[in-house]
Amino acid sequence: MARKVDWNQEKGGCCPECGSERVPVSSSPPWRGGVKFRSHRCACGATFQSVQMSDEARLDEVSKLREVAVRTRAMEEELARLNRIFNYA
Ligand SMILES: [Zn+2]
Repeated sequence: MARKVDWNQEKGGCCPECGSERVPVSSSPPWRGGVKFRSHRCACGATFQSVQMSDEARLDEVSKLREVAVRTRAMEEELARLNRIFNYA
């Protein structure tokens, strides 16, 4: 499996091995579901994939994370409540 890095708006795909920036793209399939993968082959011999998310997909992800955060907080409160009950029972 190819390693994955985040696509960087200024630096393109950066090699996870040697840190080279703007590593040439060897294949670039079309966008799918707001995400674009690019395959890179670095001069150092490393191959990897960069992942770029569209702004829409990013916002989607942020709102999903926010939902998870809210749910996590609710669970933590519930856990604290249960702990109080058990500790004082
Ligand atoms: Zn490299």
